[in-house]
Amino acid sequence: MYSKLIQFIREWYQTKGFIPLHEPHFKEIDRKYVLDAIDSTFVSSVGEYVDRFEQGLAQYLGAKYAVAMVNGTTALQVALRVAGVEQNDEVITQGLTFVATANAIVHNNAVPVFVDVNRETLGLCPRALETFLDHNGKKNARGTINKNTGNRIAAIVPMHTFGHPCKMKQILEIADHWNLSVVEDSAEALGSKILKKQCATFGKLGVLSFNGNKTITCGGGGAIITNNQAIAKKARHLTTTAKIPHKWAFVHDEIGYNYRLPNLNAALACAQLEQLDGILADKRHLANAYEALFKEAKWGHFVTEPSGCTSNYWLNTIITQDKNHRDDFLERTNEFGIMTRPAWELIPDLQIYKKCQTDTLGNARWLAQRIVNLPSSARANV
Ligand SMILES: *Cc1c(COP(=O)(O)O)cnc(C)c1O
Repeated sequence: MYSKLIQFIREWYQTKGFIPLHEPHFKEIDRKYVLDAIDSTFVSSVGEYVDRFEQGLAQYLGAKYAVAMVNGTTALQVALRVAGVEQNDEVITQGLTFVATANAIVHNNAVPVFVDVNRETLGLCPRALETFLDHNGKKNARGTINKNTGNRIAAIVPMHTFGHPCKMKQILEIADHWNLSVVEDSAEALGSKILKKQCATFGKLGVLSFNGNKTITCGGGGAIITNNQAIAKKARHLTTTAKIPHKWAFVHDEIGYNYRLPNLNAALACAQLEQLDGILADKRHLANAYEALFKEAKWGHFVTEPSGCTSNYWLNTIITQDKNHRDDFLERTNEFGIMTRPAWELIPDLQIYKKCQTDTLGNARWLAQRIVNLPSSARANV
């Protein structure tokens, strides 16, 4: 049974060599734009490619504004800050996520709280969120307070795991009821949609990543997506050292950050954006082929896009019967040069986040023992 899978993957990628989990996809146009940025001498934080990428990305997503940044983690940090997260505030996110989600909360001197995920979407579970707030939340003049700690709960960060959209409708309703901002961690979900609406456009703000392992990449990069002009303006200002625009004077009105995406990276990002639809189409072909292949397999079921959603299938995922089957699967595939990977350790299980409040995390624990990610790159010729 492993041999069938291994043979399929080798044929798909047409190679006898090592097959990585997710490779960047570069063509002549990537080279062309990067060289053009070098020739222009505008390689740093100002330049035409930055504006062009922001406009192109916003347009692609059907959003009003995109603010490009050096990576997804800093974009998330600034998104939380402009969403109103302050020192000692609490931010609710999911236990099953990449560590950057939690780090960005702490970078604002705020405290993460981890709730469970949904077994279908692998993302934040609306029912777990509602239960947590019903048990722990109370409203007063300061907003929503966590009865255990007396701290304000300021925001919710759902994360679209491996590109599968969370149940945003329910999450937004709960957020609305408790008057909490939603910042979507869409780092893994560029091009994923719920009905026809793009991920990263549901919350007050959405965040994307263009790291080397993501759907498209510009080396390192990230963006904040929003329809709110004041928020976009504030994010742009804060990330350009909060400098008041002036021909020569250096006046800064806040302690800002140097987080803007360099033009050199933005050139690559522009080239990648032009290839996004082709990449998504090829990834979807692969996901369909995996789904067919795993139909008869007893040792794992393939995770398909939630109903009503379009996933970008960033990382194809199977859920094995149990931890032993998972470990066996990881051993057997990696042994043959096919890179596969388990889910992250649950963030509240890391020593650095051990003290954070959680719910039971039942589904997150169940999934974390069973998830395996499969090679998911778009093929080189698309
Ligand atoms: C990749 C990723 C990030 C961070 O993006 P970087 O660009 O690597 O900083 C944040 N959250 C999630 C869920 C991610 O997968």
